[in-house]
Amino acid sequence: MGLVITVANQKGGVGKTTTAVSLADFLAAAGSRVLVVDLDPQGNLTTSLGLESASPPPVYLALLDPPRTPGLIVPARPYRLDILASGPDLAGAEVELLGLPDGRLRLRLALAEIKSGYDLVLVDCPPSLGILTVNGLAAADGVLVPVQCEFLALEGLASLSRTLSLVRAELNPGLMLTGVVLTMFDGRLGLSRQVVEEVRRFFPETFDTVIPRNVRLGEAPSFGRTIREYAPTSPGARAYEALALELMDRLLAKLTAEEASRA
Ligand code: ADP
Ligand code: MG
Repeated sequence: MGLVITVANQKGGVGKTTTAVSLADFLAAAGSRVLVVDLDPQGNLTTSLGLESASPPPVYLALLDPPRTPGLIVPARPYRLDILASGPDLAGAEVELLGLPDGRLRLRLALAEIKSGYDLVLVDCPPSLGILTVNGLAAADGVLVPVQCEFLALEGLASLSRTLSLVRAELNPGLMLTGVVLTMFDGRLGLSRQVVEEVRRFFPETFDTVIPRNVRLGEAPSFGRTIREYAPTSPGARAYEALALELMDRLLAKLTAEEASRA
């Protein structure tokens, strides 16, 4: 189906990369053809999968010269995933993209070359609303927003919503809010439960599955391993597996509804 889902939130440390890697890995293990795209110069998604960040980063080359994209994607072995990897030099792409007339559409052009070969493309964004994130949103069918169950969880979501509206108005009218993912939930804290209620009230699109705070999720990336492989029975793995199923159900329901409305 070649759906592009972008994981975005300009706050750092809310679980974007963890969500992108874990969902991609569970979906691929269940048989989907999945590509992950690392749009963050920090390259956390790249290293989480055990790959070294390269110079120049493949995603940088794809943004500057979209027709090269097929040759820049590599398998992220031993996972069944393909990756368009990042690295620190991607930071330099921001200035170059700002100078190009279609600088906000380069990821869309790059993915147009290859997305029909995948069921799902998951894009991980940097913690900003700059031109790299705008590229991620302009290329996407839907956006996933991880929100940490913490004090001021909703802070910043207004500016993210404004960016989504701007991208819809100027670049990508079909962009959907696929869902909000509550992360790092701690059931011992009344605050965590309060945040869950508050976020659900503001965003009816919030997924039923809530991701718990789980030390295994924090450890896995330092070994370059996914949670499915590193600690498959941990609460974190089970939660992301459930979220992967919920996401698939939601995407399939939407596709079915679209087909019905066309018929
Ligand atoms: P972002 O990409 O939004 O900056 P990350 O996914 O990198 O956030 O998560 C920030 C840090 O928190 C990382 O060290 C990650 O391993 C850890 N982490 C993410 N989700 C969880 C969780 N549910 N429980 C415990 N640690 C987590
Ligand atoms: Mg990240």
